[in-house]
Amino acid sequence: MAVETFHRTLWSALAPAAPPTPPLDGMARADVVIVGAGLLGLSAALHLAETGVDVAVLEAAEPGFGASGRNTGFVVPSLRTSLGPGDVTARLGAHGEPLTRLVGQSGTIVFGLIRRLGIACAAEQTGWMQPAHSAAMMRTLETRQRDWAARGRTVTILDAAETARRAGIAFYHGALVDPTGGQINPLAYARGLAAAAIGAGARIHAASRVAALDRADGGWLVRTARGAVRADRVLLTTNALVDALEPSMAASIIPVRVHQIATEPLAEAFADRLLVGRSPLADTRRHTFALRWSPDGRLVTGGMVMPGPGALGRAERGFLARLRRFVPGLGPVRADFVWNGVIAATLDQMPRFVDLAPGLDAAIGCNGRGVALTTALGREIAGLYAGRIAAADFPLPHGRPEKVPGHFMARHGPALWLPWSNWRDDRESAAGR
Ligand SMILES: Cc1cc2nc3c(=O)[nH]c(=O)nc-3n(C[C@H](O)[C@H](O)[C@H](O)COP(=O)(O)OP(=O)(O)OC[C@H]3O[C@@H](n4cnc5c(N)ncnc54)[C@H](O)[C@@H]3O)c2cc1C
Repeated sequence: MAVETFHRTLWSALAPAAPPTPPLDGMARADVVIVGAGLLGLSAALHLAETGVDVAVLEAAEPGFGASGRNTGFVVPSLRTSLGPGDVTARLGAHGEPLTRLVGQSGTIVFGLIRRLGIACAAEQTGWMQPAHSAAMMRTLETRQRDWAARGRTVTILDAAETARRAGIAFYHGALVDPTGGQINPLAYARGLAAAAIGAGARIHAASRVAALDRADGGWLVRTARGAVRADRVLLTTNALVDALEPSMAASIIPVRVHQIATEPLAEAFADRLLVGRSPLADTRRHTFALRWSPDGRLVTGGMVMPGPGALGRAERGFLARLRRFVPGLGPVRADFVWNGVIAATLDQMPRFVDLAPGLDAAIGCNGRGVALTTALGREIAGLYAGRIAAADFPLPHGRPEKVPGHFMARHGPALWLPWSNWRDDRESAAGR
């Protein structure tokens, strides 16, 4: 059993207090019930409430408790590097280009929303940098630049020297920079979205785990331990934490636990030569090396470690060691924060909009790209429910749940592949010297 770390995150130490979200008590009625107050559920709730829909959100813990409040806070306007628009269209058919378009707009959507709502979440639209760890990945990044250019979007390619100057790390082959990306405090963002949704008329109930979904009078009765909401429509946005509530959704994703560390404050000594311009960095390795400055001058990095007892200690030692290996002259540094969270991964790394039953949908699987994509998808789902977006124009098919083949074994796959991934990454990269 992994140690619960929600209150140990750097973001929790820096975020403003959460808005009041009293537990559900007794019977209630709503047009739409959203189960789960992560960024996806909160964005959908906000956009529905803004169009006058009566929406209630039921959250097992508190807004941002899942991956949304514990991630690295990178706003990334792209899918996984290996997924070009052609791959997306091959998978999704007519929905492929709308999804590619939405992903491309997602950074602008997030920062625009933050500005419009005045959310205090240390937002920095400083661009998102993706350095190539190998010559082959550099060619892939150049292809991605051409893909975006063909769709009227400008992303920049940096050569190796400019990448070294900006990143402060010398061994990359170059990088792609998306100027519409950047970084935020994700928990502060989730709390800000929750406050804005409440301000627009949504009801958010924390400490209200949904225990059952029952058919009732042509709609749904969504039950918690202390009450129930009768709704015409229900949207599940429980992501990797879905478990027993809807086993078909749990079987459709692979839960991947990811650890994060935040060092002692270091910006005074390193800000002029490391992540110059404050773009967060996530490279192309299979086991991605990600790095950012926090608002209070710490380095934040992380990744996967072998699961089991002592995982937090392994994360702290392993990621400090990787940091020292990658960042020249860093010397011995301390981690002041160590935490973890769970990503809902799909085999093809694409999200799903699932048709579970009439009036019962689920949106899941934004993988490691969920800060921007959940915000954008939540807005689109609200548009679909409010009748502003036609199903044919929606950026995802509305499909049945797809079980991950060999789910029991697949759950352990990412951890089992980790040593091999690290070895391959190092072999392909000059960092492996
Ligand atoms: C460590 C880490 C780092 C990451 N870094 C990044 C990054 O830098 N950039 C990026 O784009 N993405 C990143 N991601 C991925 C991103 O955080 C997720 O894709 C995104 O937050 C998913 O949001 P969500 O709303 O779908 O789900 P979640 O945020 O997981 O929310 C699901 C919510 O549902 C609730 N819930 C579950 N079951 C029930 C129930 N029965 N009743 C009521 N409520 C329930 C949970 O309590 C939870 O609050 C990272 C993820 C992790 C774990």
